[in-house]
Amino acid sequence: MTSLDPNIRKRLLDAAGPGGATEDPAEIAPHLSEWRGRWHGRATLMLQPSSTEAVANIVRVCHETGTALVSQGGNTGLVGGQIPTQGEVLLSLQRMNRIRAISTEDNFLIAEAGAILADVQRAADGAERLFPLSLAAEGSCTIGGNVSTNAGGVGVLRYGMSRDLVLGLEVVLADGRVLDLMRGLRKDNTGYDVKQLFIGAEGTLGIITAAMLKLSPKPASYSTAIIALSDVEVAVELLNRLQDATGGLVTAFEIISRPALDLVLRHVPGTSDPMPAHAGWIILVETSNSTSFDATSALEEALAHAVEDGLVADAVFAKNARDRSALWRIRETVPEAQKRDGASLSHDVAVLPSRIAAFIAAADVAVRKVFAPARPIVFGHIGDGNLHFAVRAAPGEDANLLAARDSVELAINNVVQDFGGSYSAEHGLGLAKNKAAALYKSAAEIDTMRALKAALDPKNILNPGKLLPD
Ligand SMILES: Cc1cc2nc3c(=O)[nH]c(=O)nc-3n(C[C@H](O)[C@H](O)[C@H](O)COP(=O)(O)OP(=O)(O)OC[C@H]3O[C@@H](n4cnc5c(N)ncnc54)[C@H](O)[C@@H]3O)c2cc1C
Repeated sequence: MTSLDPNIRKRLLDAAGPGGATEDPAEIAPHLSEWRGRWHGRATLMLQPSSTEAVANIVRVCHETGTALVSQGGNTGLVGGQIPTQGEVLLSLQRMNRIRAISTEDNFLIAEAGAILADVQRAADGAERLFPLSLAAEGSCTIGGNVSTNAGGVGVLRYGMSRDLVLGLEVVLADGRVLDLMRGLRKDNTGYDVKQLFIGAEGTLGIITAAMLKLSPKPASYSTAIIALSDVEVAVELLNRLQDATGGLVTAFEIISRPALDLVLRHVPGTSDPMPAHAGWIILVETSNSTSFDATSALEEALAHAVEDGLVADAVFAKNARDRSALWRIRETVPEAQKRDGASLSHDVAVLPSRIAAFIAAADVAVRKVFAPARPIVFGHIGDGNLHFAVRAAPGEDANLLAARDSVELAINNVVQDFGGSYSAEHGLGLAKNKAAALYKSAAEIDTMRALKAALDPKNILNPGKLLPD
């Protein structure tokens, strides 16, 4: 491992301030491998500053000395962006975890980058508001990571991606200056919306130190149901019917294939089959409502018509909060169950919702053509057109599946391209998909992205090689 110049090391330790660094391999180790165990990093120094000023001091030293830096929040990213694979200095934002302010008048919350998403949700809830970003990793992912990956999750249908939930940002630029974009105005047409550049930039353009987040009214009630679909083709028609029936109150519309459900039942203790008589696709639908409108009756009526019309085979409603969390547990533990089952290849893709069924059929054929023992495990945020198209292998074929990674990925991404879709819907590019741009983006788009990187990080010290290859 290339060791850090002793003079630079000393300057970084000083910049980080007391308690702001560790060189203990045991403390650094958990930060060097990621959730799926695909990338393993190297770093001898992990900086963990507790203030924006300390972050700015650190980045200034890195800029002056050309020292590369990888930022990390909760280390739940699924594309390797947070892992220092080239021996870079690791910058953990986890100690910057304060909620700086909540305004119920202007409906915002200011959180530091290292604040855990679930803590932010709780703080909003305590103020009788909702921070609607919600994803299975919410107990450990951070606001800085969420913003940097433009995280989506299960509420996008109603509330949008992280990009739609950010009113302002505080960012440390690559030269160490602090960019204060915290005006928080909902209307501000004074030129480029600079904060948007840093959202979804995966730590390649600046270090986010705090975010001003948009709060929504807190729902007074939820209606949650599991629906057995007659066929995946009817999913989007059903969603539109349920939106019409509830006046657009559908917050989540999540699809789970039978193989994905079976993985959960096999690997996640305490789960039970909500549709034992149904071998096909299921939908988890949820409405949330801040008014006295009876969304459950509206959903029941719409679903009864859908049964009559042959779209739906059956539906089961959660009767209480316990039922609701049991249904959500099934959806949220699919990635965990997939991991426990053995080797798998994950693809986080998007196409227009109306094209989902045709996409699934085409991707299934394409993947089996390049790897015959493939067993697709499909689930995801179908209301947003976002599918997690994972591929498992027939028993005994795990090693061959991993060996076929490149051809499986290429086969699926080519189908995505044919359908006019996106090869990364919500997880970003990191190291997993940084090279795909050359295949699927125009030269003009790649040049624009490179021009932004060169302008904002001319010495290429922030997360080098991530998002786009060097
Ligand atoms: C079980 C599971 C389920 C998931 N479900 C979803 C889902 O539904 N939707 C979804 O979108 N994602 C999902 N993810 C992916 C992941 O949780 C998100 O990408 C999350 O936003 C990452 O946050 P983090 O704090 O862990 O970031 P990290 O993993 O630490 O970092 C992610 C990226 O952001 C950069 N970064 C982190 N902090 C900063 C900062 N302060 N400034 C600049 N750059 C920074 C890193 O360099 C890296 O490139 C899931 C992950 C798991 C493990």
